[in-house]
Amino acid sequence: MGEHFAAHHEPAYRAKQVADWLYEKRVDSFEAMTDLPAATRARLAEEFNFVRPEVVRVLGSKDTTRKFLFRLADDSLIESVLIPASPALYGETSDRRTACVSTQVGCAYGCKFCASGLEGFSRNLEASEIVDQLLAIEKESGERIDNIVFMGMGEPLANLTNLLRAIRIINAPWGLEIGARHITISTSGLAPQIRKLALEPTQFRLAISLHGATDDVRDRIMPVNQKYNLATLLEACDYYVAQKKRLLFEYILIAGVNDSDEQAHKLAQHALRLSAKINLIPYNSVEGLEWSRPSRNRQETFLHILREHGAVATLRREKGHDIDAACGQLRLQTKRAEENILAL
Ligand code: SAH
Ligand code: SF4
Repeated sequence: MGEHFAAHHEPAYRAKQVADWLYEKRVDSFEAMTDLPAATRARLAEEFNFVRPEVVRVLGSKDTTRKFLFRLADDSLIESVLIPASPALYGETSDRRTACVSTQVGCAYGCKFCASGLEGFSRNLEASEIVDQLLAIEKESGERIDNIVFMGMGEPLANLTNLLRAIRIINAPWGLEIGARHITISTSGLAPQIRKLALEPTQFRLAISLHGATDDVRDRIMPVNQKYNLATLLEACDYYVAQKKRLLFEYILIAGVNDSDEQAHKLAQHALRLSAKINLIPYNSVEGLEWSRPSRNRQETFLHILREHGAVATLRREKGHDIDAACGQLRLQTKRAEENILAL
């Protein structure tokens, strides 16, 4: 914006005015930015797009987790989730409102248990489309978001440039002003990008979706492991942690796949090597997929083994199971319903 106004010989403070209208007053058009000259507003409307995502569906759940399905300008569907409080996510009590946002339409990484990967990859989200999810959630819910997790649809590190641009807007005093420590990026294990993130000055948090403590288990459920195997991933994590940054491991528990005692022992060793916390997440079943979560008893045993090793671990009693809050599920249902209607 600063560059735009400089090029048009307008005062530099115009950029601040626009940011104020966008992120403070949150208007829906350039026309509404009434302290800008009419000619300036008209030119902005000509040179920039001002499209907000359309809210297609909002699902609330009993524990008041809410899920939002948005339609973008090109008709793509994406989802976001608002989670009122999420203590187990960080292993500390909290009354934060967390927004879980998407970074891509679909996902190219095709993890075998995930609804987002089922229909393949369409495109990266623009930085504006990432930030717009937050604005739309706040508008729809009337709540203020104070915590953000990039755990919606897509692989954030495969859209690194736009992700970092979005984080800059979210972080900035002229933007949403949410502290970097309240922002968590989740990745399925893109080793080179993890190394790049290690050199970023912003203090966001990084979560690694491990889901398997050996190559054979990861190979079975996460195709990304064929590109960056466990040794390569853990070395990138070593590098990341060496820059004095803390890591979190996410580990979905899937019955008969990754929930054995042996996996727990190995997982604990990886976590201790990196001083990483472990967040165990019972698998959320996805329509059409064969996987299921282990019994409560097995989940507790797995947790117990981790703790015996001295690893810091929590077992998530996840919210939103009743509204299919696992990533990609709402979109998949809606897309399939629309395809069925078209096919009629
Ligand atoms: N692509 C990134 C971020 C989005 S997925 C990643 O994979 O980390 C966010 C988290 O949700 C990941 O840990 C992912 O493995 C998990 N997830 C996907 N499908 C799930 C399901 N059905 N039940 C529970 N967690 C799921
Ligand atoms: Fe993509 Fe993450 Fe789903 Fe894997 S778990 S398919 S990386 S969104």
